[in-house]
Amino acid sequence: MTFSLNLQDTLDQIAHEADALYGQGKVASYIPALAQVAPRQFGMAVAMTDGTCVKTGSADTAFSIQSISKLFTFVLALKLVGDDLWKRLGREPSGAAFNSMVQLESEKGIPRNPFINAGALVVTDILTTRYAHLDIALLGALRRLSDAPELNWDAQTAKSERDTAHRNMAMAYFMKSYGNFVNPPELVLDNYCRQCAIEMSCTQLTQATMFLANNGQDIDRLAHAGEQFLSADAARRVNALLLTCGAYDAAGDLAYRIGLPVKTGVGGGIVAIVPGVGTVAVWGPELDAKGNSVLGVFALERLVQLTGWNHL
Ligand code: GLN
Repeated sequence: MTFSLNLQDTLDQIAHEADALYGQGKVASYIPALAQVAPRQFGMAVAMTDGTCVKTGSADTAFSIQSISKLFTFVLALKLVGDDLWKRLGREPSGAAFNSMVQLESEKGIPRNPFINAGALVVTDILTTRYAHLDIALLGALRRLSDAPELNWDAQTAKSERDTAHRNMAMAYFMKSYGNFVNPPELVLDNYCRQCAIEMSCTQLTQATMFLANNGQDIDRLAHAGEQFLSADAARRVNALLLTCGAYDAAGDLAYRIGLPVKTGVGGGIVAIVPGVGTVAVWGPELDAKGNSVLGVFALERLVQLTGWNHL
């Protein structure tokens, strides 16, 4: 797509406008380690399928990706088991909070979609069966996709979440009672808290998700030969799920305001896919009542308005 505006100027303008929104949200505090993050921070990166990358603010500061990890574990599970996933998971928006339990009982332990906590726990259960060291497998894929060998998960954040993961543990046991959980919940929770505690920057996230904008193919900036990480058909389907289910119970609102496949996390990060054009990552730790970054949602909405990157 050609555009007449200067993308660097556009991002700088958005960062400037976003400044006015500080103080409207709150940093996540239910995971004690996240409460320590300084609230007034903002970063944004855009990576294009032609390999160029533009950034503003703290785009290279690593933060806790939290639920953005659900996108990556889902893709790994899809690569491993394909459509068998849908025996254990739905693909409908939940319309309920990311950590809600209410639907699990009426729907007999089958989570609505892979991007709410219950669904992500099932995905991690599937991966736990397959990988003796899931954290290493996941980091390996992310390091390769984002050309960032230094990527890691933060032990303190993982422990902080694990020590307080009563609700997620309850959901895992509840699903086990319906036969939709294979491994010991304790083991899966260890893996889940590690995946949520992975730290990445906006720049790294744009690279790690590039395959979703590029028909399933990664763009390797070092080797100049991208890996076909996922089939083009599967990438299209992942994007559809991100559009409908990527932002918990605000998925409809974000589709209205932004209209792009997104995945959000309570660390304040959001990734957005512009199929055929590129990827966007934003970060601002202050969250709205539904757990999405206030500055991040604003920045994506403005980007779409200013660039016309919306094919809906
Ligand atoms: N680790 C967080 C949790 O399970 C992730 C939630 C999120 O980012 N929405 O509560």
